[in-house]
Amino acid sequence: MESQVEEIKKKLDIVDVINRFTPLKKRGHHYIACCPFHQEKTPSFIVSPELQIFKCFGCGKAGDIFTFIEDFERVDFKEALEELAKIAGIELKHDIRFAAGDSKRQRLFLINHEVAKFYHYILTEHPLGKNAFDYVLNRGIKLETINLFKIGFSPTQPQLIVAYLTKKGFTPAEMIASGSFGQSSYNRGQFYDRFRDRLVFPLTDFRDRILGFSGRILPGAKIEQAKYINSPETDIYHKSQTVFGLNLSKEFIKKDSVVIVTEGEFDMISPFQAGYKNIVAIKGTAFTADQLQLLRRYADTLILALDSDFAGNNAARKSIELADSFDFDIQVLTLGKDFKDPDEAVNQDPVFFRKQLENTISIWDYLIDSAVAANDVSTVRGKKIILTTVLPFISKITNSVIRSDYLHKLADAVGSTVESVTQESLKIPQPKPTSPTSNILSPPVITPDSRLDRLELYLLCLIFSAKKPAILAHRITKNYSFSTPRFLSIFSQLLKKKNYQLKTFADSLPPELQPIFQDIYITASALNLEPLRRRLEITKIVNLILSQNLKKELETISLQLSLAEKNEDSAKIKELETKYNRLLAGLSGLQSNKT
Ligand SMILES: [Zn+2]
Repeated sequence: MESQVEEIKKKLDIVDVINRFTPLKKRGHHYIACCPFHQEKTPSFIVSPELQIFKCFGCGKAGDIFTFIEDFERVDFKEALEELAKIAGIELKHDIRFAAGDSKRQRLFLINHEVAKFYHYILTEHPLGKNAFDYVLNRGIKLETINLFKIGFSPTQPQLIVAYLTKKGFTPAEMIASGSFGQSSYNRGQFYDRFRDRLVFPLTDFRDRILGFSGRILPGAKIEQAKYINSPETDIYHKSQTVFGLNLSKEFIKKDSVVIVTEGEFDMISPFQAGYKNIVAIKGTAFTADQLQLLRRYADTLILALDSDFAGNNAARKSIELADSFDFDIQVLTLGKDFKDPDEAVNQDPVFFRKQLENTISIWDYLIDSAVAANDVSTVRGKKIILTTVLPFISKITNSVIRSDYLHKLADAVGSTVESVTQESLKIPQPKPTSPTSNILSPPVITPDSRLDRLELYLLCLIFSAKKPAILAHRITKNYSFSTPRFLSIFSQLLKKKNYQLKTFADSLPPELQPIFQDIYITASALNLEPLRRRLEITKIVNLILSQNLKKELETISLQLSLAEKNEDSAKIKELETKYNRLLAGLSGLQSNKT
């Protein structure tokens, strides 16, 4: 196993691997990007091709290609291994693939796959699915699209699918764990199918694995049923992290960095079928931070193609603020009064749909325009309503230039001055900053235990920021030696090297020191100091540590002195006084040596 992991690592370059998921830009020896794991506007995610590692200075995530895939795709090591082996074109040895048997997660993927296959068969080939099939075809969905999305139908008789799954070797416990089935608490514990009598849409991850399902009732169904239901949360399905259709649209979104966001399955599927392939559905009008983070990896622009009334509620307001804080350019696709959703518009008037998509408007314009259209600007009451609906949005725009532009527009719209509108906006409570703005020069993430630790860590970073760190180390060792064991080990190792070479040096360290060194190295490269500044900085830090140590010694001696005075031990007193004065002279020497 070890050897195959190494083989994959050798064959793949971390820059190429990460670039598949997050576009990287070259910066000096490194590649940088906005971190795919936390929300930020300035890049603090660094990839080192030399050490084949990545590190984020904002959230602290760091590791190699395996860690990256595990974190990015939220999979376990085994799954990351399989994916990377595939990219590398390496066939995994049989014993690796099946060593641990199928994990619980994998069993869930397998059962979902069978469930989807069964429902899809019922919809497209079985008489029980005939009505539903006609309904979908009548909505203009082609068979080819039905197959692509693996749309299915769940018949009213759960015993059919239960028998099918049992034959495939799944246990009742696994069926329950998949979320698609429940067990009736009366009725002798019989199984019921959560999606019975519904159209079923598989919810899929990047790798076409089915995480769960959503089910939609057919027209004419009993009214007390909810129109849509989803799988409950399972080991593999988390609603807040799922975006419908992204597995099929990801590459198209990446191409132009634009994503169209719709509410429901058909609103995503119909435009997709019509050729608008950079589209997803979020299943509702409110975003979660996870969904936005996911979309932010592929898109800069978010085109909201939601219900025409989507901005009318609190959840939507939060969503828009959240999207703005992820620094999306937020646009709105308006469909006028004739069409209730993208599905209807693209089917009934494709020319209009295209035109509207080419002329989306900014979310802020949209909010102002729709508030003005809905209220009478000529009355005080009308103005007040417009201000109270729109200002909470405008005042929270994170970019101050854009915010000021829209305050002007709003002032014009209500016939007021920008000063008074701005004043009104100041009355609105501002959100707390969500995450500290990350900075490449922020301190390393290895948590130092003390001030001395921190200083020595910084000193090492300064040393490794030089072109020839070994030479610098030899110079420093004349008047300084490290006291933190882990830093001392790295420093001593460096002193042993005549010709410092990053890769060989990193490999020569014991495994427990390697992550610490990687951290130091990446911080060092981000420091970006002129040689002269670096030397001054090093002198400053060395003096600081030395004078701290001297001060500590002086404290100890003065304690010993007071003890000797109590005992009237004049010989001891004399000896200590000499020592004290010598240290004091050293300290003042260090302090006058300040650079
Ligand atoms: Zn991060």
